[in-house]
Amino acid sequence: MGKEKTPTLVIIDDEEGFRETLSDIFSEVPYFVNSFGEGKRAIAAMELSPPQIVITDMFLPDLSGIEILKATKEINPDAAVILITGHASLESAVAAMNQGANAYILKPVNIEELKIIVRKALREIKLSEQNKKLIDQLQLSNRHLETVNQKLSVLNQDIESLLHVVSHDLKGPLINIQGFSSRLEKHYEYVLNALTGLVQDPSREKVLAVAASLKERLEEDALEDLGFIQKGVKRMEVLITHLLALSRAGRKSTQKEPVDMGELVDELAGIFGYQFQENKIQFSREPLPVIHCNRAEISQVFSNLISNAIHYMGDKPLKAIQVGCKEFREFFKLAVKDTGIGIEERDIPEIFKPFVRLNEIQIKGEGIGLAIVRKIIIAHGGSIWVESKKDMGSAFYFTLPKTKDEGALEKQKN
Ligand code: ADP
Repeated sequence: MGKEKTPTLVIIDDEEGFRETLSDIFSEVPYFVNSFGEGKRAIAAMELSPPQIVITDMFLPDLSGIEILKATKEINPDAAVILITGHASLESAVAAMNQGANAYILKPVNIEELKIIVRKALREIKLSEQNKKLIDQLQLSNRHLETVNQKLSVLNQDIESLLHVVSHDLKGPLINIQGFSSRLEKHYEYVLNALTGLVQDPSREKVLAVAASLKERLEEDALEDLGFIQKGVKRMEVLITHLLALSRAGRKSTQKEPVDMGELVDELAGIFGYQFQENKIQFSREPLPVIHCNRAEISQVFSNLISNAIHYMGDKPLKAIQVGCKEFREFFKLAVKDTGIGIEERDIPEIFKPFVRLNEIQIKGEGIGLAIVRKIIIAHGGSIWVESKKDMGSAFYFTLPKTKDEGALEKQKN
């Protein structure tokens, strides 16, 4: 806990003697006392240094106690205001309490009573400050819990889609392998039977006949079956390699460094330069900031998004890709936009799932790129989405949070 601040107590009364007496009394206990003979001067001073407690006369030459009360509450809603009057009336007492005065006391003032009221008011202020701090902490923990919950639900979805992949995409080639292996087993049995027959009758004619039949069977059927098995194994190998890449994506997200996004995107633009030229694609980028992130992983994000933008450009009259960024208080929002073939609305929720491909354009790919991109961004504490319409181009957006010590970083000049 930090050292407690000395509470500021403001006394406003046009009777100098009374003002001084109060100032002396409250200076003995640890208050920072300010006293004024006029209301307006007191308010001007309170605006510069907000008070915790105000003791004010109900009738001042320039303002009423109620006006002081209102002004005090505007400056510090938690401040306690004690009104003092020589001419009590029930209406003014009710008005004062309705406006939020803590006490309304009569002159001549009983100093002990006033001290008790001030101490009580101060205790209430402290309690309300502690309450506020607790509420702030609770809200912070709640926000933290919400983020953890979101991450958990994303994780659950990931597990579900991975289970889907394992049960469907891997099962396909596995069933093929099983089927063709049992056919190979039959070929084997056939060969074995033929050889057993030869042992019993090893005549020249028999040997020639068996050899011809085996040659035909092994050359055609068995070879073809073996080919299918190899294909299935290769397919499984590819799927497993991609699954491994997906499982690794985002693992390095905690190893962050300041990365100049402009430099990173320019580097990638160089790598994709040949494809831009070949496909007559105009590439441009806005000024980009320096962001704390894992360089290799965010480079992969941009690389996958730009490579998709090239692949799914289609035959458009204007072929353009643009990378941009907007800065918000707590995060950066980056964008990769293209003028390509776009995505049907119903397909949008699907494309970030592993091994999902839309069959608009026949391009070699496995449908894993966006799943990897999404996992990296989520591991960085950001989110990713796409805005697109069929034939109208696509805009992929992702956010990257600013780290606590990062603050607003100056945008790099072009
Ligand atoms: P892949 O490109 O290997 O198919 P991705 O996961 O990168 O895998 O993309 C999944 C699918 O999302 C693609 O098959 C394509 O149909 C669609 N897609 C991705 N990027 C774009 C884009 N910029 N414009 C249109 N469609 C896209």
